[in-house]
Amino acid sequence: MGNKIILPPAMLGILGGGQLGRMFASAAKNMGYGVTVLDPDSHAPAAEFADVHLCKSFTDPEALQYMATHCAAITTEFENVNADSMRWLAAQDIPVAPSGDCVEIAQDRIAEKNFIRDAGLDVAPFLAVKNAASLEGDLSAYLPGILKTARLGYDGKGQVRVKTAEDVRFAHAEMKHQPCVLEKMMPLVSEISAIVTRTRAGEVACFPVAENEHLNGILDVSIVPARISTALADRARQMAMQLAEKLDYVGVMAVEFFVLEGDELVINEMAPRPHNSGHYTLNATLTTQFEQQVRAMCGLYPGKTDLLSPTVMVNLLGDSWGDDGSEPHWEILMTAPNTKLHLYGKKLARPGRKMGHFNVLATSADAALEQARAIKETL
Ligand code: ADP
Ligand code: MG
Repeated sequence: MGNKIILPPAMLGILGGGQLGRMFASAAKNMGYGVTVLDPDSHAPAAEFADVHLCKSFTDPEALQYMATHCAAITTEFENVNADSMRWLAAQDIPVAPSGDCVEIAQDRIAEKNFIRDAGLDVAPFLAVKNAASLEGDLSAYLPGILKTARLGYDGKGQVRVKTAEDVRFAHAEMKHQPCVLEKMMPLVSEISAIVTRTRAGEVACFPVAENEHLNGILDVSIVPARISTALADRARQMAMQLAEKLDYVGVMAVEFFVLEGDELVINEMAPRPHNSGHYTLNATLTTQFEQQVRAMCGLYPGKTDLLSPTVMVNLLGDSWGDDGSEPHWEILMTAPNTKLHLYGKKLARPGRKMGHFNVLATSADAALEQARAIKETL
């Protein structure tokens, strides 16, 4: 593929047109690139920012052919995108970042955890549950634990907490014996994430580590810088960069970690794309994670990632909208001089649906967190 750089006004393609695709398209357009989005949803949030919206499935041959003909480079924002579509595009001699192979590993918790462990990095103790027979032995090393479907889980969906071997077998039957991982429940001190960017030439950059709090399995707030020691944050960034290198990854990738007692770190999972916990970069770093994706896929050097201000990102779910679809009370959020609202243009607000987020920039992470919580109360 070579290391040819791709400059504006080249057309960039993206598989997936959700909010991540929207923020990617916005970044690319600002830099002067064209954007083609492939997404079967006629109301895809990214469509508003795209030059071309191919409203087709991710495996549609004509749509893929269109992208191969018109795009100078292609990426994805959708974790469950068809890996074969990505490989087919790459075979047409178009730079595709990340590769279909990397996406495929991240799509399957068994492959993902095996890869991370084989890369010499720590994960929580887990058992690959390929079928019912996998659960015949002694399970005590993984209990109490969580049974997670190997594929298609997100925001805590497809997970059951289990205490006994009986529970595990029952839960696995309820999941129709599909491939799963049984993971030991870890005593979490906190959860953090590191977002790494790697170019085809092997240049890497990592954003400051975010501390993440979840509510009902969905990311609620990200606090940056994470309230952990500098040494621990550096270790997380090193591990994320090491994983990207082992994967020969190109593009932006998020790595989620569990922080355990004694500053022990284990990798929870990775996402082969920009990540919700990196939305603080829209306002708090010189380069955003979406610009970083553009840079990586175009063979440009990664942009600077230094934190310009402590920031707290708060997710806005449909729950903040009225039952009749009425808007939240934006007044205080919109009139504060140090807050930034980002809405994804979704028409229908459902509970749990990610509608937008806001960033609060303050002199310390604690001050930002306090203000962010106070503002959320007013919505
Ligand atoms: P998802 O793909 O839905 O994000 P995760 O594996 O990240 O799935 O799990 C969602 C959340 O559940 C984690 O962020 C963490 O809070 C909790 N969790 C998952 N696995 C474990 C574990 N082994 N021990 C303790 N908590 C866990
Ligand atoms: Mg997760």
